[in-house]
Amino acid sequence: MPRPVKQEPEVSSVACPLCGASGVGGLDGCLEIFDGVIGKEFQSPERFAVHRLTVDSYSLQHPERFMVSTKSAATHLAAMCWSLECGLSRNLPLPLKNMVDGQKSFERLEPPVPQARGEVTILDVAHIESASDYTAAVWIWARSAWDAWSTHHDQARLWIAQAKMRGGRA
Ligand SMILES: [Zn+2]
Repeated sequence: MPRPVKQEPEVSSVACPLCGASGVGGLDGCLEIFDGVIGKEFQSPERFAVHRLTVDSYSLQHPERFMVSTKSAATHLAAMCWSLECGLSRNLPLPLKNMVDGQKSFERLEPPVPQARGEVTILDVAHIESASDYTAAVWIWARSAWDAWSTHHDQARLWIAQAKMRGGRA
């Protein structure tokens, strides 16, 4: 009996090395999916309402790409914390914006190891047709990405407290 020939994995079956999304065609394929998701957000006000969450979720799961400087790392982590604990804002909340604009460097954060940055990934939101189901799924994705960074939650909350103390002043 001939045994089935083991096929070489096709490019599309390769997982993202950073977030672990399976079958996306590696990091490039994952980034393409992200671009598509962002594109749809710009075409739909309902989807765009969670734009900040989408960007921060994706960044937290791809820090080697989007959180390289300590400033960008602080921005994404603190913004995610703000959305989940202080209320969603489509743009970076003003106190946080002032904080990151006014400071050159921040505490350096060690990201969670690749492919262990939350069970939920871009794949779980990318193909959702209904805008309301999409935004609900993005919240779940955001929580999953945030939970993976649990060792840095206190730092994020500290940044927010400091930013709020300084207030919205420039
Ligand atoms: Zn990915």
